[in-house]
Amino acid sequence: MLKALPRVVIIGGGFTAASLAVQLLRRSAQPLAITIIEPRERLGPGLAYSGADPDHRLNAPTGSHSLDPLDPLHLSRWCTADGLLQRDPEAAMPNGLLFIRRLDYGRYLEDSLRQQAAAVPAASLRHCQDRAVRLESVGGLWRVQTAGAETLFAEVVVLATGNPPPALQWSAQDGLSDHPRLITNPLLRPQLPQIDPDARVLVLGTALTAQDMISTLVRRGHRGPIVAVSRRALVPRPHAPELMGPVLPASLLQSSETPLDRIMRPLPDFLAPPVAPTALAWTRALRGRIAVLQAQGLSWHAAFDDLREAVWRAWPLLPGSEKRRFLRRLRPWYDVHRFRSVPFNDAIVARARAQGLLSFRRARLVALRAARKGQGLRVSLVAPGQSQVVEETFDWLINCTGLDPAAGIASNPVLASLRGQGDLVVDGSGIGIQVDPDCRVLGSDGRGRAGLFAFGPPTAGVFGDPLGALFISAQIHRALPGLLQALEDDPASRLACNARQPH
Ligand SMILES: Cc1cc2nc3c(=O)[nH]c(=O)nc-3n(C[C@H](O)[C@H](O)[C@H](O)COP(=O)(O)OP(=O)(O)OC[C@H]3O[C@@H](n4cnc5c(N)ncnc54)[C@H](O)[C@@H]3O)c2cc1C
Repeated sequence: MLKALPRVVIIGGGFTAASLAVQLLRRSAQPLAITIIEPRERLGPGLAYSGADPDHRLNAPTGSHSLDPLDPLHLSRWCTADGLLQRDPEAAMPNGLLFIRRLDYGRYLEDSLRQQAAAVPAASLRHCQDRAVRLESVGGLWRVQTAGAETLFAEVVVLATGNPPPALQWSAQDGLSDHPRLITNPLLRPQLPQIDPDARVLVLGTALTAQDMISTLVRRGHRGPIVAVSRRALVPRPHAPELMGPVLPASLLQSSETPLDRIMRPLPDFLAPPVAPTALAWTRALRGRIAVLQAQGLSWHAAFDDLREAVWRAWPLLPGSEKRRFLRRLRPWYDVHRFRSVPFNDAIVARARAQGLLSFRRARLVALRAARKGQGLRVSLVAPGQSQVVEETFDWLINCTGLDPAAGIASNPVLASLRGQGDLVVDGSGIGIQVDPDCRVLGSDGRGRAGLFAFGPPTAGVFGDPLGALFISAQIHRALPGLLQALEDDPASRLACNARQPH
Protein backbone atom coordinates (compact mmCIF):
# COMPACT_ATOMS: atom_id res chain seq x y z
CA MET A 1 0.00 0.00 0.00
CA LEU A 2 1.23 3.50 -0.83
CA LYS A 3 2.22 5.59 2.19
CA ALA A 4 0.10 8.77 2.48
CA LEU A 5 2.09 11.97 2.09
CA PRO A 6 2.42 14.22 5.15
CA ARG A 7 -0.12 17.05 4.77
CA VAL A 8 0.45 20.78 5.12
CA VAL A 9 -2.47 23.18 4.83
CA ILE A 10 -1.63 26.85 4.32
CA ILE A 11 -4.43 29.31 5.03
CA GLY A 12 -4.02 32.35 2.77
CA GLY A 13 -2.46 32.31 -0.69
CA GLY A 14 -0.35 35.48 -0.94
CA PHE A 15 3.44 35.97 -0.93
CA THR A 16 3.83 34.25 2.47
CA ALA A 17 2.09 31.09 1.27
CA ALA A 18 4.03 31.09 -2.01
CA SER A 19 7.39 31.51 -0.29
CA LEU A 20 6.57 28.82 2.25
CA ALA A 21 5.38 26.35 -0.39
CA VAL A 22 8.49 26.94 -2.54
CA GLN A 23 10.85 26.57 0.43
CA LEU A 24 9.00 23.42 1.59
CA LEU A 25 9.12 21.86 -1.88
CA ARG A 26 12.82 22.67 -2.18
CA ARG A 27 13.95 21.62 1.32
CA SER A 28 11.71 18.77 2.49
CA ALA A 29 13.50 15.40 2.39
CA GLN A 30 10.16 13.69 1.73
CA PRO A 31 7.42 14.67 -0.73
CA LEU A 32 4.53 16.57 0.84
CA ALA A 33 0.87 17.13 0.07
CA ILE A 34 0.43 20.90 0.27
CA THR A 35 -2.98 22.55 0.08
CA ILE A 36 -3.31 26.33 -0.04
CA ILE A 37 -6.72 27.71 0.89
CA GLU A 38 -7.22 31.05 -0.86
CA PRO A 39 -10.48 32.51 -2.16
CA ARG A 40 -8.77 34.45 -4.96
CA GLU A 41 -8.54 32.88 -8.40
CA ARG A 42 -4.73 32.98 -8.45
CA LEU A 43 -2.21 31.66 -5.95
CA GLY A 44 0.68 33.99 -5.04
CA PRO A 45 -0.34 37.62 -5.61
CA GLY A 46 -2.51 37.92 -2.48
CA LEU A 47 -3.70 41.33 -1.36
CA ALA A 48 -0.42 43.10 -2.10
CA TYR A 49 0.20 42.04 -5.71
CA SER A 50 -3.25 41.41 -7.19
CA GLY A 51 -3.71 44.94 -8.55
CA ALA A 52 -3.48 45.68 -12.27
CA ASP A 53 -2.28 49.29 -12.15
CA PRO A 54 0.90 49.71 -14.23
CA ASP A 55 1.96 52.68 -12.07
CA HIS A 56 2.24 50.57 -8.91
CA ARG A 57 5.70 49.13 -8.48
CA LEU A 58 7.66 47.19 -5.87
CA ASN A 59 9.13 49.61 -3.36
CA ALA A 60 12.62 48.06 -3.50
CA PRO A 61 14.78 46.44 -6.19
CA THR A 62 14.32 42.82 -7.28
CA GLY A 63 17.28 41.60 -5.16
CA SER A 64 15.18 41.75 -1.99
CA HIS A 65 12.09 40.08 -3.44
CA SER A 66 13.10 36.49 -4.20
CA LEU A 67 10.68 33.83 -2.98
CA ASP A 68 13.60 31.81 -1.65
CA PRO A 69 16.19 33.66 0.47
CA LEU A 70 18.77 30.95 -0.33
CA ASP A 71 18.35 31.81 -4.03
CA PRO A 72 18.43 35.63 -4.03
CA LEU A 73 18.75 35.92 -7.83
CA HIS A 74 15.63 33.82 -8.46
CA LEU A 75 13.46 36.84 -9.32
CA SER A 76 16.13 38.46 -11.51
CA ARG A 77 16.44 35.23 -13.50
CA TRP A 78 12.65 35.07 -13.87
CA CYS A 79 12.60 38.67 -15.17
CA THR A 80 15.19 37.78 -17.80
CA ALA A 81 13.39 34.57 -18.83
CA ASP A 82 10.09 36.46 -18.98
CA GLY A 83 11.48 39.21 -21.22
CA LEU A 84 9.99 41.69 -18.77
CA LEU A 85 12.24 44.57 -19.76
CA GLN A 86 11.05 44.51 -23.36
CA ARG A 87 7.50 45.22 -22.16
CA ASP A 88 8.47 47.50 -19.31
CA PRO A 89 11.81 49.20 -20.08
CA GLU A 90 11.01 51.85 -17.45
CA ALA A 91 11.55 49.23 -14.74
CA ALA A 92 15.34 49.55 -15.12
CA MET A 93 17.25 52.32 -13.39
CA PRO A 94 20.29 53.68 -15.28
CA ASN A 95 22.48 51.70 -12.84
CA GLY A 96 20.71 48.43 -13.73
CA LEU A 97 18.57 48.00 -10.61
CA LEU A 98 15.03 46.87 -11.39
CA PHE A 99 11.87 48.26 -9.79
CA ILE A 100 9.27 46.03 -11.39
CA ARG A 101 5.51 46.46 -11.45
CA ARG A 102 3.55 44.80 -8.68
CA LEU A 103 1.36 43.14 -11.28
CA ASP A 104 4.45 41.50 -12.82
CA TYR A 105 5.63 40.44 -9.38
CA GLY A 106 2.23 38.78 -8.88
CA ARG A 107 2.87 36.82 -12.09
CA TYR A 108 6.33 35.84 -10.80
CA LEU A 109 4.83 34.45 -7.60
CA GLU A 110 2.14 32.50 -9.44
CA ASP A 111 4.54 31.14 -12.10
CA SER A 112 7.28 30.17 -9.67
CA LEU A 113 4.91 28.29 -7.43
CA ARG A 114 3.57 26.34 -10.39
CA GLN A 115 7.07 25.62 -11.72
CA GLN A 116 8.38 24.51 -8.33
CA ALA A 117 5.46 22.13 -7.84
CA ALA A 118 6.05 20.66 -11.31
CA ALA A 119 9.74 20.15 -10.43
CA VAL A 120 8.81 17.82 -7.53
CA PRO A 121 6.31 15.44 -9.17
CA ALA A 122 6.17 13.16 -6.10
CA ALA A 123 4.72 16.04 -4.08
CA SER A 124 1.32 17.61 -4.60
CA LEU A 125 0.20 21.23 -4.53
CA ARG A 126 -3.51 21.98 -4.53
CA HIS A 127 -5.39 25.26 -4.57
CA CYS A 128 -8.56 25.04 -2.52
CA GLN A 129 -10.33 28.15 -3.79
CA ASP A 130 -12.32 28.90 -0.70
CA ARG A 131 -12.13 30.73 2.63
CA ALA A 132 -11.12 28.88 5.82
CA VAL A 133 -13.65 29.58 8.54
CA ARG A 134 -12.83 27.13 11.33
CA LEU A 135 -9.74 25.31 12.58
CA GLU A 136 -9.45 22.91 15.49
CA SER A 137 -7.21 20.20 16.85
CA VAL A 138 -8.86 16.77 16.54
CA GLY A 139 -7.15 13.49 17.51
CA GLY A 140 -3.59 14.74 16.90
CA LEU A 141 -4.42 16.38 13.56
CA TRP A 142 -5.73 19.80 12.55
CA ARG A 143 -9.18 19.96 10.98
CA VAL A 144 -9.93 22.93 8.73
CA GLN A 145 -13.40 23.81 7.57
CA THR A 146 -14.09 26.15 4.70
CA ALA A 147 -16.99 28.43 3.88
CA GLY A 148 -17.78 26.07 0.99
CA ALA A 149 -18.22 23.21 3.51
CA GLU A 150 -15.02 21.36 2.63
CA THR A 151 -13.19 19.64 5.52
CA LEU A 152 -9.43 19.10 5.37
CA PHE A 153 -7.13 17.30 7.82
CA ALA A 154 -3.42 18.03 8.16
CA GLU A 155 -0.43 17.33 10.37
CA VAL A 156 0.66 20.95 9.99
CA VAL A 157 -1.41 24.07 9.40
CA VAL A 158 0.11 27.47 8.68
CA LEU A 159 -1.69 30.78 9.13
CA ALA A 160 -0.58 33.02 6.26
CA THR A 161 -3.57 35.34 6.32
CA GLY A 162 -1.51 38.50 5.70
CA ASN A 163 -2.79 42.02 5.98
CA PRO A 164 -6.49 42.70 6.39
CA PRO A 165 -7.82 44.86 3.53
CA PRO A 166 -7.79 48.63 4.16
CA ALA A 167 -10.97 49.85 5.82
CA LEU A 168 -12.31 53.24 6.83
CA GLN A 169 -14.16 53.51 10.12
CA TRP A 170 -16.17 56.52 8.97
CA SER A 171 -17.91 54.85 6.04
CA ALA A 172 -19.62 52.25 8.21
CA GLN A 173 -20.53 54.68 10.96
CA ASP A 174 -22.17 57.21 8.71
CA GLY A 175 -23.90 54.89 6.28
CA LEU A 176 -21.47 55.96 3.56
CA SER A 177 -19.96 52.59 2.69
CA ASP A 178 -21.71 52.57 -0.69
CA HIS A 179 -21.08 56.23 -1.49
CA PRO A 180 -19.96 56.26 -5.14
CA ARG A 181 -17.24 58.86 -4.51
CA LEU A 182 -15.65 57.11 -1.52
CA ILE A 183 -12.87 54.64 -2.32
CA THR A 184 -12.52 52.77 0.95
CA ASN A 185 -10.16 50.08 -0.32
CA PRO A 186 -8.14 51.37 -3.29
CA LEU A 187 -6.36 48.00 -3.57
CA LEU A 188 -9.56 46.32 -4.68
CA ARG A 189 -9.90 48.46 -7.77
CA PRO A 190 -7.98 47.30 -10.83
CA GLN A 191 -7.60 50.99 -11.75
CA LEU A 192 -8.83 54.09 -10.00
CA PRO A 193 -12.30 54.65 -11.34
CA GLN A 194 -12.78 57.35 -13.89
CA ILE A 195 -12.29 60.33 -11.64
CA ASP A 196 -13.00 63.55 -13.55
CA PRO A 197 -9.59 65.21 -14.23
CA ASP A 198 -10.83 68.46 -12.68
CA ALA A 199 -12.21 66.84 -9.52
CA ARG A 200 -11.08 67.88 -6.04
CA VAL A 201 -9.58 64.75 -4.48
CA LEU A 202 -8.82 64.13 -0.83
CA VAL A 203 -6.27 61.38 -0.19
CA LEU A 204 -6.36 60.08 3.37
CA GLY A 205 -2.81 59.08 4.24
CA THR A 206 0.57 60.23 2.96
CA ALA A 207 2.53 56.95 2.83
CA LEU A 208 3.25 54.53 0.00
CA THR A 209 -0.34 53.71 -0.96
CA ALA A 210 -1.08 57.44 -1.15
CA GLN A 211 1.98 57.89 -3.34
CA ASP A 212 0.75 55.09 -5.62
CA MET A 213 -2.72 56.57 -5.99
CA ILE A 214 -1.44 60.12 -6.56
CA SER A 215 0.93 58.81 -9.25
CA THR A 216 -1.94 57.07 -11.03
CA LEU A 217 -4.06 60.22 -11.00
CA VAL A 218 -1.25 62.49 -12.17
CA ARG A 219 -0.15 60.12 -14.95
CA ARG A 220 -3.73 60.07 -16.18
CA GLY A 221 -3.58 63.86 -16.53
CA HIS A 222 -5.39 64.95 -13.40
CA ARG A 223 -5.73 68.76 -13.20
CA GLY A 224 -7.91 69.35 -10.13
CA PRO A 225 -6.46 69.90 -6.67
CA ILE A 226 -5.26 66.82 -4.77
CA VAL A 227 -4.88 67.18 -1.00
CA ALA A 228 -3.18 64.42 1.01
CA VAL A 229 -3.62 64.49 4.78
CA SER A 230 -2.24 62.58 7.75
CA ARG A 231 -1.57 63.52 11.36
CA ARG A 232 2.10 64.24 10.74
CA ALA A 233 2.11 64.47 6.93
CA LEU A 234 5.25 62.33 6.90
CA VAL A 235 6.15 60.98 3.47
CA PRO A 236 8.27 57.94 2.55
CA ARG A 237 11.96 58.76 2.30
CA PRO A 238 13.91 58.04 -0.89
CA HIS A 239 16.34 55.14 -1.25
CA ALA A 240 20.01 55.67 -0.42
CA PRO A 241 21.78 57.99 -2.89
CA GLU A 242 24.43 55.27 -3.23
CA LEU A 243 21.73 53.04 -4.79
CA MET A 244 20.19 55.70 -6.99
CA GLY A 245 23.34 56.98 -8.70
CA PRO A 246 24.17 56.24 -12.34
CA VAL A 247 26.64 53.53 -11.32
CA LEU A 248 26.38 51.18 -8.35
CA PRO A 249 29.26 51.40 -5.84
CA ALA A 250 32.00 48.81 -6.35
CA SER A 251 31.64 47.72 -2.70
CA LEU A 252 28.08 46.64 -3.45
CA LEU A 253 28.87 44.90 -6.71
CA GLN A 254 31.80 42.99 -5.23
CA SER A 255 30.11 41.96 -1.99
CA SER A 256 29.35 38.26 -1.67
CA GLU A 257 27.02 38.86 1.27
CA THR A 258 23.39 37.98 0.47
CA PRO A 259 20.36 39.80 1.91
CA LEU A 260 19.77 36.72 4.08
CA ASP A 261 23.35 36.85 5.40
CA ARG A 262 22.70 40.42 6.52
CA ILE A 263 19.50 39.42 8.33
CA MET A 264 21.27 36.53 10.08
CA ARG A 265 24.05 38.80 11.41
CA PRO A 266 24.11 39.37 15.18
CA LEU A 267 22.60 42.51 16.69
CA PRO A 268 24.75 45.46 15.53
CA ASP A 269 27.16 46.80 18.17
CA PHE A 270 25.40 50.15 18.39
CA LEU A 271 22.21 48.42 19.67
CA ALA A 272 23.81 45.64 21.73
CA PRO A 273 24.24 45.77 25.54
CA PRO A 274 25.18 47.87 27.47
CA VAL A 275 22.70 49.96 25.41
CA ALA A 276 19.42 49.58 27.34
CA PRO A 277 16.53 47.93 25.42
CA THR A 278 14.31 50.99 25.34
CA ALA A 279 12.87 52.91 22.42
CA LEU A 280 14.64 56.09 23.57
CA ALA A 281 18.07 54.47 24.04
CA TRP A 282 17.86 52.81 20.63
CA THR A 283 16.75 56.02 18.95
CA ARG A 284 19.74 57.80 20.48
CA ALA A 285 22.05 54.94 19.50
CA LEU A 286 20.74 55.04 15.94
CA ARG A 287 21.23 58.80 15.72
CA GLY A 288 24.80 58.37 17.04
CA ARG A 289 25.54 55.73 14.42
CA ILE A 290 24.06 57.90 11.65
CA ALA A 291 26.31 60.79 12.76
CA VAL A 292 29.37 58.51 12.52
CA LEU A 293 28.40 57.40 9.01
CA GLN A 294 27.58 60.91 7.87
CA ALA A 295 31.02 62.01 9.01
CA GLN A 296 32.35 59.40 6.55
CA GLY A 297 30.23 60.89 3.77
CA LEU A 298 27.51 58.21 3.87
CA SER A 299 23.75 58.71 4.20
CA TRP A 300 21.55 57.60 7.14
CA HIS A 301 20.37 54.57 5.22
CA ALA A 302 23.21 52.20 6.13
CA ALA A 303 22.67 52.66 9.89
CA PHE A 304 18.92 52.35 9.51
CA ASP A 305 19.31 49.20 7.40
CA ASP A 306 21.46 47.62 10.12
CA LEU A 307 18.60 48.28 12.55
CA ARG A 308 15.89 47.07 10.13
CA GLU A 309 17.69 43.83 9.40
CA ALA A 310 18.18 43.13 13.12
CA VAL A 311 14.63 44.07 14.16
CA TRP A 312 13.59 40.40 14.49
CA ARG A 313 16.36 40.00 17.10
CA ALA A 314 15.96 43.43 18.72
CA TRP A 315 12.17 43.84 19.00
CA PRO A 316 11.65 40.82 21.31
CA LEU A 317 14.20 42.35 23.75
CA LEU A 318 11.97 45.41 24.32
CA PRO A 319 9.68 45.21 27.36
CA GLY A 320 5.95 45.37 26.52
CA SER A 321 5.60 48.97 27.70
CA GLU A 322 8.45 50.01 25.39
CA LYS A 323 6.88 48.22 22.43
CA ARG A 324 3.62 50.03 23.02
CA ARG A 325 5.46 53.37 23.37
CA PHE A 326 7.23 52.73 20.06
CA LEU A 327 3.96 51.86 18.31
CA ARG A 328 2.25 54.97 19.70
CA ARG A 329 4.99 57.52 19.18
CA LEU A 330 7.77 56.34 16.88
CA ARG A 331 6.08 54.03 14.40
CA PRO A 332 5.22 56.74 11.83
CA TRP A 333 8.88 57.87 11.76
CA TYR A 334 10.17 54.31 11.56
CA ASP A 335 7.77 53.53 8.72
CA VAL A 336 8.72 56.44 6.46
CA HIS A 337 12.40 55.50 6.73
CA ARG A 338 11.71 51.78 6.47
CA PHE A 339 9.23 51.74 3.53
CA ARG A 340 11.03 53.87 0.96
CA SER A 341 9.53 55.58 -2.00
CA VAL A 342 9.55 54.15 -5.49
CA PRO A 343 11.88 56.49 -7.47
CA PHE A 344 9.52 56.91 -10.45
CA ASN A 345 6.49 57.70 -8.30
CA ASP A 346 8.58 59.93 -6.06
CA ALA A 347 9.46 62.04 -9.11
CA ILE A 348 5.78 62.27 -10.14
CA VAL A 349 4.73 63.32 -6.64
CA ALA A 350 7.53 65.91 -6.40
CA ARG A 351 6.55 67.40 -9.79
CA ALA A 352 2.87 67.56 -8.82
CA ARG A 353 3.81 69.36 -5.60
CA ALA A 354 6.05 71.81 -7.42
CA GLN A 355 3.23 72.58 -9.89
CA GLY A 356 0.83 73.30 -7.01
CA LEU A 357 -1.44 70.44 -8.05
CA LEU A 358 -0.76 68.44 -4.90
CA SER A 359 -0.47 69.58 -1.29
CA PHE A 360 0.29 67.67 1.89
CA ARG A 361 -1.38 68.74 5.11
CA ARG A 362 -1.10 67.77 8.75
CA ALA A 363 -4.67 67.00 9.75
CA ARG A 364 -6.96 64.35 11.16
CA LEU A 365 -10.35 63.44 9.71
CA VAL A 366 -12.96 63.82 12.45
CA ALA A 367 -16.19 63.60 10.47
CA LEU A 368 -17.37 62.66 7.00
CA ARG A 369 -20.77 62.94 5.36
CA ALA A 370 -22.31 63.18 1.93
CA ALA A 371 -22.29 66.76 0.63
CA ARG A 372 -25.76 68.32 0.43
CA LYS A 373 -25.20 69.71 -3.05
CA GLY A 374 -23.64 67.64 -5.81
CA GLN A 375 -22.21 64.19 -5.36
CA GLY A 376 -19.15 64.88 -3.26
CA LEU A 377 -18.19 64.43 0.35
CA ARG A 378 -18.09 66.96 3.16
CA VAL A 379 -15.12 66.36 5.47
CA SER A 380 -14.22 67.84 8.85
CA LEU A 381 -10.48 68.10 9.44
CA VAL A 382 -8.57 69.16 12.56
CA ALA A 383 -4.90 70.14 12.52
CA PRO A 384 -2.74 68.66 15.32
CA GLY A 385 -2.72 70.70 18.53
CA GLN A 386 -5.72 72.77 17.38
CA SER A 387 -9.37 72.53 18.29
CA GLN A 388 -10.76 74.37 15.27
CA VAL A 389 -12.57 72.12 12.83
CA VAL A 390 -12.13 73.00 9.15
CA GLU A 391 -14.95 71.87 6.86
CA GLU A 392 -14.29 71.25 3.18
CA THR A 393 -15.98 69.59 0.26
CA PHE A 394 -14.18 67.17 -2.04
CA ASP A 395 -15.49 65.37 -5.10
CA TRP A 396 -13.69 62.15 -4.20
CA LEU A 397 -12.05 60.61 -1.15
CA ILE A 398 -9.44 57.87 -1.50
CA ASN A 399 -8.64 56.02 1.72
CA CYS A 400 -4.91 55.24 1.86
CA THR A 401 -4.61 54.77 5.61
CA GLY A 402 -2.48 51.95 6.93
CA LEU A 403 -3.44 48.34 7.27
CA ASP A 404 -4.50 47.23 10.72
CA PRO A 405 -3.34 43.64 11.51
CA ALA A 406 -5.15 43.62 14.89
CA ALA A 407 -8.47 44.23 13.13
CA GLY A 408 -7.64 41.22 10.96
CA ILE A 409 -7.96 38.78 13.86
CA ALA A 410 -11.48 39.79 14.85
CA SER A 411 -12.71 40.01 11.25
CA ASN A 412 -11.13 36.77 10.03
CA PRO A 413 -13.38 33.83 10.98
CA VAL A 414 -10.63 31.24 11.11
CA LEU A 415 -8.50 33.36 13.46
CA ALA A 416 -11.54 34.28 15.53
CA SER A 417 -12.45 30.57 15.84
CA LEU A 418 -8.97 29.71 17.13
CA ARG A 419 -9.10 32.59 19.56
CA GLY A 420 -12.51 31.54 20.82
CA GLN A 421 -11.16 28.04 21.54
CA GLY A 422 -8.11 29.38 23.40
CA ASP A 423 -5.75 28.14 20.64
CA LEU A 424 -4.64 31.69 19.69
CA VAL A 425 -4.06 34.87 21.66
CA VAL A 426 -3.28 38.44 20.67
CA ASP A 427 0.39 39.33 21.31
CA GLY A 428 1.42 41.69 24.11
CA SER A 429 1.64 44.76 21.87
CA GLY A 430 -1.91 44.13 20.64
CA ILE A 431 -1.17 44.03 16.91
CA GLY A 432 -1.20 40.38 15.97
CA ILE A 433 -0.87 36.71 16.86
CA GLN A 434 1.31 35.51 19.74
CA VAL A 435 3.86 32.96 18.51
CA ASP A 436 7.04 31.44 19.97
CA PRO A 437 10.50 32.14 18.46
CA ASP A 438 9.92 29.27 15.99
CA CYS A 439 6.62 30.82 14.85
CA ARG A 440 4.52 28.18 16.64
CA VAL A 441 1.15 29.67 17.64
CA LEU A 442 0.70 30.00 21.41
CA GLY A 443 -2.63 29.27 23.09
CA SER A 444 -4.24 31.06 26.02
CA ASP A 445 -2.43 28.60 28.35
CA GLY A 446 0.90 29.98 27.04
CA ARG A 447 1.83 26.66 25.38
CA GLY A 448 2.83 26.27 21.73
CA ARG A 449 0.28 24.42 19.60
CA ALA A 450 2.02 21.46 17.96
CA GLY A 451 1.75 21.66 14.18
CA LEU A 452 0.22 25.16 14.08
CA PHE A 453 2.41 27.99 12.76
CA ALA A 454 1.94 31.61 11.66
CA PHE A 455 4.17 33.70 9.37
CA GLY A 456 4.22 37.19 7.93
CA PRO A 457 2.31 40.35 8.91
CA PRO A 458 0.11 38.74 11.61
CA THR A 459 3.30 38.02 13.62
CA ALA A 460 4.49 41.65 13.60
CA GLY A 461 3.76 42.06 17.32
CA VAL A 462 6.32 39.35 18.14
CA PHE A 463 9.04 40.00 15.55
CA GLY A 464 8.54 43.70 14.84
CA ASP A 465 8.89 43.70 11.09
CA PRO A 466 8.04 40.50 9.19
CA LEU A 467 6.24 42.73 6.69
CA GLY A 468 8.33 42.98 3.52
CA ALA A 469 8.92 40.04 1.18
CA LEU A 470 12.56 39.54 2.18
CA PHE A 471 11.80 39.57 5.89
CA ILE A 472 8.93 37.10 5.52
CA SER A 473 10.97 34.69 3.40
CA ALA A 474 13.82 34.90 5.96
CA GLN A 475 11.37 34.28 8.81
CA ILE A 476 10.13 31.14 7.02
CA HIS A 477 13.72 30.04 6.38
CA ARG A 478 14.52 30.28 10.11
CA ALA A 479 11.40 28.37 11.18
CA LEU A 480 11.50 25.71 8.45
CA PRO A 481 13.49 23.06 10.41
CA GLY A 482 10.90 23.18 13.24
CA LEU A 483 8.04 22.97 10.78
CA LEU A 484 9.58 20.00 8.96
CA GLN A 485 10.17 18.33 12.34
CA ALA A 486 6.50 18.85 13.26
CA LEU A 487 5.57 16.72 10.23
CA GLU A 488 7.59 13.87 11.73
CA ASP A 489 6.02 14.06 15.22
CA ASP A 490 3.70 11.21 16.01
CA PRO A 491 0.01 12.06 16.39
CA ALA A 492 -0.07 10.90 20.04
CA SER A 493 2.52 13.51 21.08
CA ARG A 494 0.64 16.20 19.12
CA LEU A 495 -2.58 15.14 20.80
CA ALA A 496 -1.00 15.41 24.26
CA CYS A 497 0.60 18.73 23.43
CA ASN A 498 -2.57 20.30 22.06
CA ALA A 499 -4.85 19.22 24.91
CA ARG A 500 -5.72 22.61 26.37
CA GLN A 501 -4.40 23.23 29.84
CA PRO A 502 -6.37 25.13 32.47
CA HIS A 503 -4.70 28.47 33.16
C1 LIG B 1 -0.37 47.31 -1.45
C2 LIG B 1 0.83 46.68 -0.84
C3 LIG B 1 2.06 46.79 -1.47
C4 LIG B 1 3.18 46.18 -0.93
N1 LIG B 1 4.38 46.32 -1.57
C5 LIG B 1 5.45 45.68 -1.09
C6 LIG B 1 6.70 45.73 -1.80
O1 LIG B 1 6.84 46.39 -2.83
N2 LIG B 1 7.73 45.04 -1.29
C7 LIG B 1 7.63 44.30 -0.14
O2 LIG B 1 8.60 43.64 0.26
N3 LIG B 1 6.48 44.27 0.55
C8 LIG B 1 5.39 44.92 0.11
N4 LIG B 1 4.21 44.84 0.80
C9 LIG B 1 4.18 44.11 2.08
C10 LIG B 1 3.45 42.76 2.05
O3 LIG B 1 2.94 42.62 3.37
C11 LIG B 1 4.34 41.57 1.80
O4 LIG B 1 5.24 41.78 0.72
C12 LIG B 1 3.56 40.29 1.42
O5 LIG B 1 2.84 40.50 0.24
C13 LIG B 1 2.62 39.78 2.48
O6 LIG B 1 2.10 38.58 1.97
P1 LIG B 1 0.98 37.75 2.70
O7 LIG B 1 0.75 36.52 1.91
O8 LIG B 1 1.38 37.56 4.13
O9 LIG B 1 -0.26 38.71 2.74
P2 LIG B 1 -1.38 39.17 1.69
O10 LIG B 1 -0.78 39.67 0.44
O11 LIG B 1 -2.23 40.09 2.49
O12 LIG B 1 -2.20 37.84 1.36
C14 LIG B 1 -2.91 37.15 2.33
C15 LIG B 1 -3.95 36.29 1.63
O13 LIG B 1 -4.62 35.53 2.63
C16 LIG B 1 -5.95 35.33 2.20
N5 LIG B 1 -6.76 34.99 3.38
C17 LIG B 1 -6.95 35.74 4.49
N6 LIG B 1 -7.77 35.09 5.34
C18 LIG B 1 -8.10 33.91 4.75
C19 LIG B 1 -8.92 32.81 5.14
N7 LIG B 1 -9.59 32.80 6.29
N8 LIG B 1 -9.04 31.76 4.28
C20 LIG B 1 -8.37 31.75 3.11
N9 LIG B 1 -7.58 32.77 2.69
C21 LIG B 1 -7.46 33.83 3.51
C22 LIG B 1 -6.33 36.65 1.55
O14 LIG B 1 -7.37 36.45 0.60
C23 LIG B 1 -5.02 37.08 0.90
O15 LIG B 1 -4.98 36.77 -0.47
C24 LIG B 1 3.07 45.45 0.29
C25 LIG B 1 1.84 45.36 0.93
C26 LIG B 1 0.73 45.94 0.38
C27 LIG B 1 -0.59 45.80 1.08
